[in-house]
Amino acid sequence: MSFRDESDGHRRFALPGARLQYGPDRTVDVEHIDLHLTPDLNAQSLDGVCTTTVRALDEPVDHVVLNAVDLQILSVEYNGKLQRFERRNDTLEIQFDTAVAPGAQATFSVTYRVERPRHGLFFIEPSREYPGRVGQAWTQSQDENARYWFPCFDYPDSKQTTSTTIVVKKGLFALGNGALVERKDDGDRTIFRYRQDVPHSTYLMTLVAGPFSEIEQRNAGAGSVPVWYYVVPGREADGDRAFGNTPRMLEVFEERTGTSYPYARYSQIAVADFIFGGMENTSATTQTDRTLHDATAHLDFSSDPLVSHELAHQWFGDLLTCRDWAHAWLNEGFATYFECVWFEANLGYDEYLFDVFGCVARYLDEDSERYRRPIVCNRFRDPIELFDRHLYEKGGAVLHMLRGELGDARFWRSIRRYVKENAQRSVETIDLIRAIEDATGRNLRGFFDQWVFRGGHPDLEISVAWDAKRKAATVTIDQKQTVDDANPAYVFDVEIGFVNDVDPKPATDFGPGPLPGERRMRIHVERAHETVTVPLDFEPKLFRFDPGAFILGSVTYKFGADFAAATMVGDPDPAARIRAARELAKDGSLVAREALGAAFTREPFWGVLDATAGALGATKAPWAREILLAALTHEHPKVRRAVADALGNFRNGVGAALVTPATGDASYYVRAAALASLGRSRDAAAFDVLRVAVEGQSWNGIVEAGAARGLAELADPRGAELLINATRLGRDEGLRRAAVIALGRFAELVESERTRVIDVIGELLDDRMLLVQIAAISAAESLGDERLLPALNRLSTSAFDGRVRRDAVEAAMRIREARKVPAQVSSLRSDLDSLREEQRKLQEKIEALSRS
Ligand SMILES: [Zn+2]
Repeated sequence: MSFRDESDGHRRFALPGARLQYGPDRTVDVEHIDLHLTPDLNAQSLDGVCTTTVRALDEPVDHVVLNAVDLQILSVEYNGKLQRFERRNDTLEIQFDTAVAPGAQATFSVTYRVERPRHGLFFIEPSREYPGRVGQAWTQSQDENARYWFPCFDYPDSKQTTSTTIVVKKGLFALGNGALVERKDDGDRTIFRYRQDVPHSTYLMTLVAGPFSEIEQRNAGAGSVPVWYYVVPGREADGDRAFGNTPRMLEVFEERTGTSYPYARYSQIAVADFIFGGMENTSATTQTDRTLHDATAHLDFSSDPLVSHELAHQWFGDLLTCRDWAHAWLNEGFATYFECVWFEANLGYDEYLFDVFGCVARYLDEDSERYRRPIVCNRFRDPIELFDRHLYEKGGAVLHMLRGELGDARFWRSIRRYVKENAQRSVETIDLIRAIEDATGRNLRGFFDQWVFRGGHPDLEISVAWDAKRKAATVTIDQKQTVDDANPAYVFDVEIGFVNDVDPKPATDFGPGPLPGERRMRIHVERAHETVTVPLDFEPKLFRFDPGAFILGSVTYKFGADFAAATMVGDPDPAARIRAARELAKDGSLVAREALGAAFTREPFWGVLDATAGALGATKAPWAREILLAALTHEHPKVRRAVADALGNFRNGVGAALVTPATGDASYYVRAAALASLGRSRDAAAFDVLRVAVEGQSWNGIVEAGAARGLAELADPRGAELLINATRLGRDEGLRRAAVIALGRFAELVESERTRVIDVIGELLDDRMLLVQIAAISAAESLGDERLLPALNRLSTSAFDGRVRRDAVEAAMRIREARKVPAQVSSLRSDLDSLREEQRKLQEKIEALSRS
């Protein structure tokens, strides 16, 4: 089976074995789940009693089939009597001795035990390699792993109220969903009782237990909702840096959604070795403890994206839940978009737009490098496969575009309507479309067809020309993606504007509106090549395309150096300035070089300089290197980071300049970027600096990870030992991930170390840290060595985690694809040889005939 979609040259999302997925049939409605849980952190076990109250639908129910994996079922009770039950594959089937009548309620209890679970419930303990680790237990139920820690109807469309009793050793803390209704000591144990009175799905249920400091946050404006965070003792200050903005976020999101925070309290608990960034369990988010950070990291790192994302889920995902995974963008796209919304409220419009811009870039990357799919899509093997950049980033970008389409007032009115009408319900995309229609009268089915139900996006090229004689500007919009019967041109409205005068400095946080004196108009685009001629009574000095960067796709300016330079100076839209910087870097004329150089002193927003540095680096031109070297001491750490990173594109004349930031910059991230670039520069001084740096110990291994990347690019065989050491258990998890990727790259460059590195990567494919395992798969894929195929094939079927399985399949396919290329080349070569032979014979015949 081909992995490539022939119609537009993009890879397919669906892997072999993928099938159309629909939610399960139901015979009962679940009304309540009561859990009584006694986790034993030392034995890594859980004793549980799960009592489920159901109501029969329209027919008598004599049995139910629950999801239950690896649970030792001890007994099942109904009406005070033990019931027959059967374990089948991953289900528990319970036979009722008397059928439940249609519409009647029934309550049954399952007593069970979990020992050393493989998924769903995780026990963290100190080990030889990590002696400082604190014992914890935490669950991760999404997408379908609640069934590993209690028997249930484990699908998002089933919503019920819950109560959770957790019994732990005295001195430990335990977290469940909803209000903490009781907490009492009982001998050497403590009992916690939680109640979640707002119906929620099983994938949002949680249990966390361990020693935690409990901190209640100041909560000035957020109604009466108590806000808490929990961290291991000693990390309270780091917790405050990570979670400090939560109460203010709550206020902002209540205002934007028009709906009060729906649960009795909001808690964030930071756990070790978490397998995601965060998980939005209702009222009780689990966060990775890697987001806790020191004051140095706080210079240019913020937990706000993670914190705002999980908080937004309390509305989008938790209160309104996707009915099935195909529509999971209603959870993730919204949560991603609300990260931007928080930026807008907290830091202003420019940061908002830059965040959206980043979402689009990451989606475009996945679309070109990995596969293309519609956002709503129900052909897959595991639901977790859907949790990609199409779901998150493209989903978020669609909401930004929707805001542009409707305008602010109508957009927020629609969102509020959608939340209000669907609170506590399960939703599909049509519910959002209808809410918009109800709130505004706009029928956006075409919009959703194009951007949500169809894969892809337009790749736009925009040019503008001024005809002084006719006093008219001509704007050309080309759609450069494949356009044919199967892939029609994108249809959209877009705003353009002409300005007569350029302000010498762009306004900040200006928003998408028109500048004073701007001639603004909305044009309709529906063909692959559109030309608009606009008569003007002035010669425009500034041309604006799509202020607010609403159109989801790639946009390349072909404005010419003068217009682009004017954009860099005077367009208040940071996305426009970034696009202009990219054009100018490619242009390279004197006008362009001057505009780019001046940007580093004039540009008010670091985000534009981040992109400008990247564009300059990509040129690899000496003049660009000089601009970057001069910018290496910029006051903003995120600019210094981007500049240091961009300098990695140059081999000569940058090494000496990078040593100072690599060893002495105030920011971890700048040091890391400078170290990586120092390695890429292959400067003679690099090895000694990298050797020291990779053995260090910075927050989350950030600096060491930069050194590992540098060692890979330096391609000095002495780096092998250092890199292998950096992947070892005992080192920071983030460093281990970076180091395994770096090792893969290193082996590409240093043939003599390849076999040894492949052995190490082979071992890491089975690493007990899931995220290290995933990094190892990625390293195996980019290395493309067939010797890793058997291990990848094994993981693709037998791994427990859906992400591991999917990544392993993709990696193995790409390695096999790459193997096919040499085979194809040699087959074509032999075709060519026989054609040459044929040609020779024909020529002989011709010559013979002409002689005769
Ligand atoms: Zn999320």
